[in-house]
Amino acid sequence: MGLIYLNGNFLSTEEAKISVFNRGLLYGDGVFEGIRAYNGSIFKLKEHIERLYASAKAIWLDIPISKEEMHQAIVETVKVNNLKESYIRPIVTRGTHGLGIDPWECKEPTIIIIADKIEVFPEEFYETGLNAVTVATRRAPTDVLDPRIKSLNYMSNILARIEARVAGAAEGIMLNPQGYVTEATVDNIFFVKNETLYSPSVTLGVLPGITRATVMELAKKELGLQVVEGLFTRYDLYNADEVFMTGTAVEIISAVKIDGRIIGKGKQGEITSKIRQIFHEYANSGVAGSPVYGK
Ligand code: PMP
Repeated sequence: MGLIYLNGNFLSTEEAKISVFNRGLLYGDGVFEGIRAYNGSIFKLKEHIERLYASAKAIWLDIPISKEEMHQAIVETVKVNNLKESYIRPIVTRGTHGLGIDPWECKEPTIIIIADKIEVFPEEFYETGLNAVTVATRRAPTDVLDPRIKSLNYMSNILARIEARVAGAAEGIMLNPQGYVTEATVDNIFFVKNETLYSPSVTLGVLPGITRATVMELAKKELGLQVVEGLFTRYDLYNADEVFMTGTAVEIISAVKIDGRIIGKGKQGEITSKIRQIFHEYANSGVAGSPVYGK
């Protein structure tokens, strides 16, 4: 098994242990990232590190190493595991103290970096597209817990995924309390209508996905598409020409059925297919990545 970065040391999976008093376990008190390496290059590493530190700032957690040191630690973790393609999970918890909720006694945050592989959906779903449903579990509004914070508490996302699976679907789409579409359980959502690309506005309660931002940029630059962020309801999804999800782990995947309605032609649409191709070329080219093994 691989080597895990834990507070500056590389340990085997068996040795990499943390206390049962760790706040990450007791309260989900911490933040994390999910990052991919393509072809020996860590995609958008700088952006992921920025988001990690922004999440930490929002929860009053001072990460005790600099962004440059974090960058180096992530690159090293991929390198010591000798990986070219990888899914990387940096985690920072508030550290370890007693059972109380008060965070001030936690003096030393716990930093963990895992470099491994991930498969969210079976390979064939990338060709056939997903069956998705909207779920009853709402995405927390920004005045409850801003979904821009990528915190270790993923309970609503997990409940949404369970609801989707119980309903016989692969993925769940979450609405905000006003009924506007926000995102799926671990991925952002887009739809295409009359050759324009739409995605829910981040201020509705959405994680500002790095894949989302990349897709928007590539769609404008490479395909000349107009990209519109706004307020959308389920009606907009049902009547879209194409719907797809984006995320680091998921990458880009079509939703061809939502709440029993067939979306567009019921298969991966042309624009989605083009965006997937352009995205993979871009990610594999290394132009937007940090090289692990030198150029
Ligand atoms: N929304 C949620 C809730 C997520 O957990 C993720 C995965 N990080 C995303 C969207 C997609 O974000 P990204 O493209 O940065 O991975």
